[in-house]
Amino acid sequence: MRNALLSHVKRVIVKIGSGVISSEAGLDRTMLAAIAEDLCDLRQQGLEIIVVSSGAVAAGKCQLGITGRPQTIPQKQAAAAIGQTRIIRAYKETFIDRGHMVAQVLLTRDDLSNRRRYLNARNTLSTLLEYGVTPIVNENDTVVVEEIRFGDNDNLSALVTSLVEGDLLIILSDVDGFYDGDPSLNPDAKLIGVVERITPKLESLAGDSKGTLGTGGMSTKIKAAKRVGLAGVGTLIVNGRTPHILRKVFAGENVGSYFLPAQSKMTAKKRWIAFSKKPRGKLLVDEGAYRAVVELGKSLLPSGICGIEGSFERGDAVRLCDRQGNEFAKGVTSYSQPELLRIAGKQSSAIEATLGYKYRDEIIYRDDMVLTIEDKEESDA
Ligand code: GLU
Repeated sequence: MRNALLSHVKRVIVKIGSGVISSEAGLDRTMLAAIAEDLCDLRQQGLEIIVVSSGAVAAGKCQLGITGRPQTIPQKQAAAAIGQTRIIRAYKETFIDRGHMVAQVLLTRDDLSNRRRYLNARNTLSTLLEYGVTPIVNENDTVVVEEIRFGDNDNLSALVTSLVEGDLLIILSDVDGFYDGDPSLNPDAKLIGVVERITPKLESLAGDSKGTLGTGGMSTKIKAAKRVGLAGVGTLIVNGRTPHILRKVFAGENVGSYFLPAQSKMTAKKRWIAFSKKPRGKLLVDEGAYRAVVELGKSLLPSGICGIEGSFERGDAVRLCDRQGNEFAKGVTSYSQPELLRIAGKQSSAIEATLGYKYRDEIIYRDDMVLTIEDKEESDA
């Protein structure tokens, strides 16, 4: 089955966790080199690889004599500045030995939220790939402040997968995959080989566990799998510490946990709306509008809007929520919040009379909208 799942894969995002390539003692160069060797093999087999590598903070903090987690943000940022150069150097050494090149790409949340910068980052990454260079991406830890952080590299890897239209996300973790219990507490916990759907129950199984070196735990990995799954891409979580794990994956071995995508691939613009553009507000809609959007695949009209939150301009992304405030879609609004306050609840035919002008009948046109829940048919199946 794995062979069939991987047969269409050409562009792969490999996320490498801090817990895989570092320990309390700092960067684990042997482990990093072993993984880099496998990455070179995959390149040689004709796959395009984008690496999202953590480990900057973990690799740099020892140089500063910090034990445990760095306590302050400046300490963390200083550690990342030192560690990042060490990581890139380590990748570069192995790649160069094998006749390949790497490039460092550091991103912040803002870079992907702004459409122009998003397209710019996408162009840079695809140009690197065209030249046969393997990008090594990390969050720009040295400069990020809370508002522009991805937060964790699992999230970053999901956004990068969407950015470069990857075919598969592989998360190298320090555990074998996703278990139905905590294997460190429960010896009967079983590894789930294939996850068909990420249900709330499954999400709760992931808990809030955190690794000691990286930022995320299993729950951030499940969130990443869910994100890319909604965009039509599968995720594989495997143990990066298992020797030659990437070779095993591409030999079709049944390793780790594979998360099947929830729906077919989205267009590039929809992926950007769904994952990268930051929502500035919320529209609450009535049952009729919910059904029209979720079940009938229609645009959002002003008549179905029963609540408006936040302050946003025309062209901003907003969340679409039911009356209870549960999000079910995201979209780019054709009208600003002050305009919407005047036309919400009215028929489209009344827009012009109310505002004195009209951009279009729809508040959110269907092509500018994505469902952020699995569609009804699939979730009922
Ligand atoms: N960007 C951080 C680093 O390189 C890691 C974030 C994470 O562990 O998710 O150290």
